[in-house]
Amino acid sequence: MDLQKTAHVVLLSSPGIGHLIPIIELGKRFHIHHNFKVTILVITSQTSQAESQILKSATNPSLYTIIPIPSSNISATAVSTRIRLTMRHSIPSIKSALINLPLRPSAFIVDIFGTESLILAKELNIPKFVYVASHAWYLSLFAYSPVLDKQIEGQYVDQKEPLKIPGCKSVRPEDLVDSMMDRNNLQYKEYLITANNLCKSDAVLVNTWNELQHRELKALNGELSCSLKIPVFAVGPIVRQTKSKTDQDTESMMKWLDKQPKESVVYVSFGSGGTLSYDQMKELAFGLELSEQRFIWVLRAPRGDDADGAFFTTGCSDRFDEIQKQLPDGFLERIKNLGMLVQEWAPQVNVLKHGSIGCFISHCGWGSVLESLTNGVPIIAWPLYAEQRMNATMLVEELGVAVKTTLSPTKNVVGREEIASLVKKVILVERNGKSNHMRERVREIKVSAEKALCEGGSSYNTLSKVAKIINKQDFISLSLNVDMRDEIKD
Ligand code: UDP
Repeated sequence: MDLQKTAHVVLLSSPGIGHLIPIIELGKRFHIHHNFKVTILVITSQTSQAESQILKSATNPSLYTIIPIPSSNISATAVSTRIRLTMRHSIPSIKSALINLPLRPSAFIVDIFGTESLILAKELNIPKFVYVASHAWYLSLFAYSPVLDKQIEGQYVDQKEPLKIPGCKSVRPEDLVDSMMDRNNLQYKEYLITANNLCKSDAVLVNTWNELQHRELKALNGELSCSLKIPVFAVGPIVRQTKSKTDQDTESMMKWLDKQPKESVVYVSFGSGGTLSYDQMKELAFGLELSEQRFIWVLRAPRGDDADGAFFTTGCSDRFDEIQKQLPDGFLERIKNLGMLVQEWAPQVNVLKHGSIGCFISHCGWGSVLESLTNGVPIIAWPLYAEQRMNATMLVEELGVAVKTTLSPTKNVVGREEIASLVKKVILVERNGKSNHMRERVREIKVSAEKALCEGGSSYNTLSKVAKIINKQDFISLSLNVDMRDEIKD
């Protein structure tokens, strides 16, 4: 192939803001640190206002070119199945976009739902990667799922023991990803297809860093490589760094935050797709009030019974009046000086960067988790969907930066007393210095993340290695990749 002076990396994002943001950020890093030309193909949901907003505000021709590809309307009940089927149906459009690019691609990077498009990179004979925008423990489970599928009979959720993954912490049945909860449905079958497709790429990039998940990365490049068969490169934490543009509403929110004491405000948000039932919303309202702590709460009307009901329609609801009617009587009046309610969407990075934020009640989507950790904010884990139960367990039990509810929020309404007590535990106890272990830990992690990303840091070096491979079209390093495995081993 013609060797171009500047490599041109093409990234592919599946529908969903939690997929789009990390792909854009990875693209930015390739441009800023390695001077690559970057094109981002985005399969758009067509139905999410927040997604359109992000695409509009992310347009930055000096860093990358975004090509939106409208998706066909697929009806499937589970969000992940809908995304997988959408991506399958989009292959002809992706192919046409790739062929018509003015500059020949030097590498193709897809997110976890885009693996069936890897065949297109094979046709172009360029290196191909899967970018897993989640963490290494989740990747281990995902990569090992085809083996578990053969090993274990019956439903995973009925297993008496946690599921063993070589070299990694075992996964409790109740913490499994949604797609593994019922082996008889289409969602699981599609999940397995994707897991099997992982090794059709030349390597996996994962949004974590060696110092945070050394054990899992070592396993992925060691014990687990017999099932994964390709190298894993930790390039994270790749998160939005710069503050997004503010409009009038967000300006007033930031002004309100400016007036609050340091680390005193609880930020409550359930990602791009999370919704709570009205019963749970009411209880959360009582709980926040009972805690007597300041808060910013991003409120979203439920769409049906699913906790991820807003995934394809983020930012689209105008039912704020309806929500307000569901809140406890007199709540709005009573919290006037204590809290702020935000409809549908907040400038999350700006909020988490603000010094007055003391804790984050989060659904634990990995994007939100990384934004919290890299801004030194401890978490109250409220997992709702996808791999979020695993994330919550890891944050509490492995990293020591979070507390979580005793019962799963998707199966139970979490009561006001428990909510108030968790909030007080993180904001007050931690602030009064009686036990500031969680805040200390999160600060250590923040520093470790910064080190990993700066020049000479582990993730910086790893992405440089990937960039070198792309520049040289060095398939040999990818197929053997002996040095990468050695690097992770110690
Ligand atoms: N987000 C935001 N404002 C909101 C809700 C979410 O900016 O009100 C962003 C958040 O900062 C994160 C992304 O949307 O970057 C959500 O990704 P995550 O992985 O946390 O969860 P998902 O939405 O995929 O479940």
